[in-house]
Formats: sequence, C-alpha cells, structure tokens
Amino acid sequence: MTGRYAEPFGSHGLVRLDADAALVRAAMDAAPDGIVLVQHDGAILYANAAMAAISGYALAELLGTSVHRLLPRSHRMRHAEQMADYFDGPSRRPMGMGRDLWLERKDGSLIPVDVALGHTEQGGGAAVAFVRDITELRRLEARMHYQATHDTLTGLVNRWQFGQRLEQAIAESARQGEPFALLLLDLDDFKAINDGYGHAAGDQVLVEVARRLKGALRASDTLARLGGDEFTVLLQPLAGPEEAEQRAAELLQVLCQPCRMHGFELNFGASLGLALCPADARDAATLLRYADMAMYQAKERGRANFAFYTDYMGRRMAEKILLHDRLKLALSYGGLALHYQPQVCVATGRVQAVEALLRWSDPELGDVSPERFIPVAEATGLILALGAWVLDAACRQTAQWARAGLALRVAVNLSAQQLRQTDLVDQLRGSLAVHGTPPGLLELEVTESETMADPEQARQVLCNLQALGVGVALDDFGTGYSSLVHLKQLPVSRIKIDREFIRPLLHSEADATMVRAIIGLARTLGLHVVAEGVEAVEQLRFLEQHGCEAYQGWLYSKAVPAAQVLALLRSAGTQEDSVPAALTE
Ligand code: C2E
Ligand code: MG
Ligand code: MG
Repeated sequence: MTGRYAEPFGSHGLVRLDADAALVRAAMDAAPDGIVLVQHDGAILYANAAMAAISGYALAELLGTSVHRLLPRSHRMRHAEQMADYFDGPSRRPMGMGRDLWLERKDGSLIPVDVALGHTEQGGGAAVAFVRDITELRRLEARMHYQATHDTLTGLVNRWQFGQRLEQAIAESARQGEPFALLLLDLDDFKAINDGYGHAAGDQVLVEVARRLKGALRASDTLARLGGDEFTVLLQPLAGPEEAEQRAAELLQVLCQPCRMHGFELNFGASLGLALCPADARDAATLLRYADMAMYQAKERGRANFAFYTDYMGRRMAEKILLHDRLKLALSYGGLALHYQPQVCVATGRVQAVEALLRWSDPELGDVSPERFIPVAEATGLILALGAWVLDAACRQTAQWARAGLALRVAVNLSAQQLRQTDLVDQLRGSLAVHGTPPGLLELEVTESETMADPEQARQVLCNLQALGVGVALDDFGTGYSSLVHLKQLPVSRIKIDREFIRPLLHSEADATMVRAIIGLARTLGLHVVAEGVEAVEQLRFLEQHGCEAYQGWLYSKAVPAAQVLALLRSAGTQEDSVPAALTE
C-alpha cells in the first residue's frame, strides 16, 4: 500500500481544507454511512471506518484495491462500463433514488445498500460514494409487506394478496391455455364452536384448518384465508375438472377428521364451492361469485359437501335477484294482498277460522307463488319487512271483521327470521293496538323445523307472544322431527298435519298410520289438530273416522280475497247464523 492512498487529505493535497486533516478524517470516520473515494480506474483512494465495518474489510485492505471487489460478482463487468460512462459526464445522485444495489462483503455475503454519488475534480478527479447499509430497512419493509399480505392468525396469504394471485393465475391461464380451479371453503357451524368453546378455541380451529389444508396442497397451489372461517384455494396447474373434483374430495376428507383440543374432540366439516377458469369465467370477480354460489349450493346439500358452479346456479341467482327487486317494489306500491283459506270443523262443516296466505301479483311476472318468493325473501332478509306487512294487514282485517260482529279467528304464518327478531313482540303489540284487534282472534303459525333450530329461544319468544293473548299453532307438523319432550314444552295450542301426509293418505298405509298417530298424539297432549291440503271427500272421511277435529284444503275452498270470505261463510248454509247482519247487507 503506497502512502498516496493512505493520506488522501494530507500531503498529497487532494482536498485542501483549513481544518486539520486529522480532524477531517475523524469527522469522516464518525459518519454513520460508508464513504469511499474512487478514481477513474476504479482504485479506492480513501475509505472511512463505516465503510470498513459495512464491507468487513480492514481499511488497509480497501485502500488501493478495486472498488469492484465490493460488488456482487455478476455485476462487476457491467459496473466497469458504467463507471467509465460516469467519469465521462459525472453527476450527483442522491440516496434513495436507485434500484436494488448490493454490496459483497469480505466473507462473500451480500447486503442491500443505498448509494449516493458525488464527484470532485481535485487530484485528477474522483467519485465519492456514500454507502448506506439498508439491511434493517429492507427487513422492516419485508415485515410490513408480509403483514400487509398475510393473515396474522394463520400466516396464510390474505384477501388482498389472494386477489393479486388470482389475477396472475388468470393471466397465466390465458397465456398458456391451461385451466385452473378456484375453490372457496367455509367451515360448517363455526359459529357453534366459537359460541360453545370460546373464541380462543375458534382461533385454534382456524389454525388447525390452515395446517391441514396446507398439508394436503401442492407447493404450486395458493391457499388464503379471506377472513372469518372462509378460506380459498387456487388449484393450479390443473389437468381438468376431474382432478379438481378429486382434490376437493381429498380436502374435505382431511378437514372432516376430528380434532382433539384440550381434551375435547371437536368435529367440524366444511362446504366447498368450485369455479373453473376459463370454462366458467375468465375474470376474478365472476369466478369468486360463482365459487360462492357453488359453496352455498354445497351447504344446502348438507354438511361436508362440495359443488361445482353450474349455469343453473347462475340462472337461479339471477331469478333470486329479480324476485327480490320486484318484491321490494311490490311492498312499496301495494302489490301484495292477503287471501284467506277456511279451516273447517270436520263434525259440523262450519268454518272455524281462516289462514292468511300472502299473494303477490307482479305487473310483469304475473302471479308469483309464495313457494317461489318466500324462500327468496328469507334468503335476502326481505322476509322481515314482508312479515311485518303481513302481520299488520292480518291484524287490520281481523279487527274489521270483529267490529262488524264476525269473530273469525285468523291464522298468520311467521318465518324463522321473524321468530329471531328481537322486536317481534313489540311489533305485534303495536299492530294489535293500532287496529284494535282482539288478540284472542289471532293465531300465529310457526313451522316445526323453525322451532327446532333453537328450541329454547323459540319457546321463550312463543311464551312472550302468548302472553299478548294470541294463539300459537305448529305448522307442517310431522316434517320437522321434533321430539315429544320438545313438543310438550312449547306453548302451542294447535298442530297442523302437513299436507304431504294427507296427499298419499288413501294409498299409503305408512302415511295413514302417521296421520292416525298425530291425531292420537294431539289428543293425548290436549292439543287441537287441523289437517292441511284436504282435496278429496275420502280423505275427509278418513279424518272424520279417526277423530281429526278440523281440516283445510281445496275440497272446501282455496284461499280467497277477504271480500269473498263472507260469501263462503254464507254458501256453507250451516253458517247463516254466524254471519252478522252488518256484513251480509
Ligand atoms: P302453509 O302455511 O303450509 O300454507 C298452506 C299452503 O297449502 C298454501 O300454499 C295453500 O294454498 C296450500 N294449500 C291449501 N289447501 C291445499 C290443497 O288442498 N292442496 C294443495 N296442494 N295445497 C293446498 P301457498 O299459499 O302457496 O303457501 C305456501 C307456503 O308459503 C305456506 O305454507 C307458508 O309456509 C308460506 N307462506 C304463505 N304466506 C305466507 C306469509 O304471509 N308469511 C310467511 N312467512 N309464509 C307464508
Ligand atoms: Mg301455514
Ligand atoms: Mg302448512
């Protein structure tokens, strides 16, 4: 090493400052960034202490050596050319303006650096490089990037990052002409785990699900958690739908293994929906929507199932949206009406009550059956507004009849969501009061399966409704698998035998037995009983023989508008005396 390199600020007069050269050197050594002076041929004229620390070389090793030594091997050739260009027209370059730069340390390791450049004409011209070790900064950036793209609980890719991967997968599939599958997965009854075992257990289940899925997937597949208990997978590459089907079945299988946790054995399943690119759609939003529809279809089929998107689901969804929109409109313009179907006493043939049934006539769609629109209203939540309208309209009609002297009991259907509505009791109390409806004339019909979903909650709500003075009937009885214990605890005064048992009654011994059993059960429990859907005289005879009290069905009448109810009562003949004069005029 020659003295020239060792004394850049000293006797060679590279920089002439008033301050003492030793002081300047000390100042340079105190700088947190590395500083190197490099001459035209790439030889290092000077380096400060920080540069030595960053590079791992001793100062003496750096001085006089080529600056290329500090560059990754792959960059050295290119850097020599860049340096020649630089000295032809030297310029300044501040920190933080460059691409990723790397420095090769003495031990061969690479560290990310940022470099600012300056230039001096002194001493024949030299470049001054200020070198900052940005390892920590990069680490921080990497951590922030990880946090922004991953789910903290499971460590899986998050929704945002998944969106990026999905776009990439679509682009790749278009370029290479190869399909891939988007799979959406939702745990079954996850809420029950959270509610029953606590959120910590819920979190553990999610971590376990992530672990199992990861174990069952290939490195090329993408697994993400979208949030809550929703996961998604990109199966790529994919030979075709058969492979997607097989892989979906495998995923279901690993998920359905019981999970031991703190001595408990938890059983959870999942529902999977699949959409294929490009067969089903070629854009991210549509693929996600289709996979979602398929997932709901899988859920409808019962726990632990998977389903592929089909055009049929698309059409069904389109119909659902159309019905929802038109129904909402009907609520506001008065396109809805209640019709009333008589419940008739088997022994006397007298009408003892009517059931209010919702009718919707749309200007474009025509008459739409409740079998078609009630499920849509239930799925979209519109049933609450619809149910409130029905309750109010029924209360108004009942009061109107009562004021005219016709004390006719009116039964109204309640949906499961209404039962869960916290203000249902207040709402009904309000309608009863506004119209002056005698509560005893109103009966609410709830289906057996609705009350089975959460028997205790249903019992509470029904008790509160009963306290208002209204009656409660169990609709569609025989289809909901309710236990006798459960039935005994519900504040119910009437059961309605589902029409599915009445229809085959005369040809099926099993159904006949069932109907006899229900009638017997009602009698034992002291409940009234009505048979639904009676269309034939023979069915009525059977009911009469076995002591069924009342029936409802087309044999007597379909549901009719309120104005025709009176005519029905009158035409029954035996009813003359009960139709008040005020109404017959
Ligand atoms: P549901 O409460 O069991 O009502 C009885 C259904 O049986 C009615 O169908 C009625 O028209 C039909 N029906 C009556 N007699 C006969 C018969 O002899 N033969 C046959 N085949 N069917 C008969 P609708 O009006 O189409 O209503 C279907 C279902 O829609 C109702 O079943 C009820 O679950 C629901 N629904 C109707 N109106 C309302 C409402 O205002 N609110 C709620 N939440 N649901 C309603
Ligand atoms: Mg009903
Ligand atoms: Mg029914």
